[in-house]
Amino acid sequence: MILNIIPKPNKVELLPGMVDISSLPREYEQNDFYPDEYYRIEIKDGKILIATKGEQGKFYAEQTLRQMAVMGKVPNCIITDLPEFPYRGFMIDSARHMQTIDEIKKYIEAATLFKFNVFHWHLCDDQGFRIESEKYPLLNEKGSWRSCHGFGSKNMEKYGGYYTKEEIRDIIAFCKERFIEVIPEIDMPGHTTAVVSSYPELSCRGVQIPLETTGGIFKNILCAGKEEVYEFCCGLLDEIMELFPTDYIHIGGDEAPKARWCNCDKCQQVIRQHGLKNEEELQGFFVNRIIAYLKKKGKKALCWNESLNSGLLDNSAIICDWMDRKHLSEDYANKGGKIIIEEFYRYYLDYPYGMTPLKKTYDYNPYLEKLNFTGRQNVIGVETPIWTEYIEDFDRLCYMCFPRMIAVAERGWTSPKNADYESFKKRVRNCDGLLKEIGIKIADSTEWDPDITVRINDQLDRLKTVLSPESVKTFLFPNKDD
Ligand SMILES: [Zn+2]
Repeated sequence: MILNIIPKPNKVELLPGMVDISSLPREYEQNDFYPDEYYRIEIKDGKILIATKGEQGKFYAEQTLRQMAVMGKVPNCIITDLPEFPYRGFMIDSARHMQTIDEIKKYIEAATLFKFNVFHWHLCDDQGFRIESEKYPLLNEKGSWRSCHGFGSKNMEKYGGYYTKEEIRDIIAFCKERFIEVIPEIDMPGHTTAVVSSYPELSCRGVQIPLETTGGIFKNILCAGKEEVYEFCCGLLDEIMELFPTDYIHIGGDEAPKARWCNCDKCQQVIRQHGLKNEEELQGFFVNRIIAYLKKKGKKALCWNESLNSGLLDNSAIICDWMDRKHLSEDYANKGGKIIIEEFYRYYLDYPYGMTPLKKTYDYNPYLEKLNFTGRQNVIGVETPIWTEYIEDFDRLCYMCFPRMIAVAERGWTSPKNADYESFKKRVRNCDGLLKEIGIKIADSTEWDPDITVRINDQLDRLKTVLSPESVKTFLFPNKDD
């Protein structure tokens, strides 16, 4: 007998007798000694007893009972549960393609069911800036709109928009009721075409450029040699901190080709002035200045793992490990730095099922191989992003995410020793009805683990879509200016 609960509870003791829980009275017991996210459910003697420290544990117990209610009669039992990781995140890219506020709420509602507790919101990139800014209005007038719609099949003249502060506050409040923290991402110094097309003086060359209309890695990043760039970043972060009550701000730090910096007098001057070895160290210098500013405001920074490449990164930053150079993340964690696992070939949900079958997502153990005892303690969690370069509508987004994001939910909550893929697949089917009620359509079970032919075709298709000549050139020669 398996209980159809996701994430799988860490301890279940089955007792004799079956019961319909919808008709049972509930009692509640509070205990200050329990951790915040811990809950215990006892179903026996004709009642349900829930024990927690407070509201958060109670909320998670309710999610468990919501899923059990679908089963009809369940065995009397005692469930004792606590998550493996304190950080269990999902990320939505609203920069490449926007979702409506209602769609985002549906996604959050689904994430709630599986006990996620962080919504990392990717709100600005080369293809659009999506937050209302009163301080820097051109970010919306220019930076929120791209001239054509080069990603998908539609051929619109203009694509874009942004979320008003009121809409963002609405999402934050919606999440708060569900014990989910919203962490915004303001990417810098790379992935900033929307920013430098709004304020060209913030780039090395200072020339007017349009927003990007395809996916890829782009060279027009923020200049690291102009003082006004740091003033702008801190000013923008002030506005962001006022809007988002979280103690954490994601400052990106990924995919920043150094071509412009190599040929910029101002960037080169900072390198000389501070005795930096190269442009990689200049990125470390840039990011550390921003981290220091956030620290002064009582906030902590999250960065993608490329920020470790300089070897200079302030060790208060939380590293989001997504690709490449695993040894740097391992080393960082082993020396006391915090890391979050977002492994791109397992946890990125924009890849087709042929590239990332459900089993591959589920089977990935988030503890990196070369972590020592300290390093393992410093893996604070997992996160699963959905990038939307090639995902225009919400049904497509749900198809890509469900059930793979549910697999990450389980790996974030359930201890590795309790993971069980075969039972997971059965339990996902039980959640189908609950997800439908929310408005989420999940991929059919025949697509979860495709055979080898589909796998090869999906991988070839993906490569053809992603590899434009321009992005291959930038990837291979990030420091070559043109
Ligand atoms: Zn420069």
